Amino acid sequence: MKKVTLNCSICKEKIDEQFTKNANKVYWTEGHNAEPINDGRCCTSCNNAVVVPYRILKLVNPKLDDINNSIIKALHFAENGSEEEFDESLEECVKVSKDLMDMVKELSIDEEM
Ligand SMILES: [Zn+2]
Repeated sequence: MKKVTLNCSICKEKIDEQFTKNANKVYWTEGHNAEPINDGRCCTSCNNAVVVPYRILKLVNPKLDDINNSIIKALHFAENGSEEEFDESLEECVKVSKDLMDMVKELSIDEEM
């Protein structure tokens, strides 16, 4: 396997060498895909600190909107609706935020090699 030395497209430092899972002498030297930050490669620390959080943020953003909307709805029912409507809307709030938490949990498991 040829060894290439690449520099991280985000911090510009040399990309760290990684041992592959099963063999202890084979390196992976090409880091991680830096998308959507840029179309280059990046080191493990930038991947963990920048790329992965950014991807998660992009995915969860629409869900955050859902949470916002359900809270606004609940507030509306708190003022103008029946107790039943208010309870229902609170349940909806809990559901959308739980969905989001499940989603984030799955994403962080996927990111472990
Ligand atoms: Zn880096």
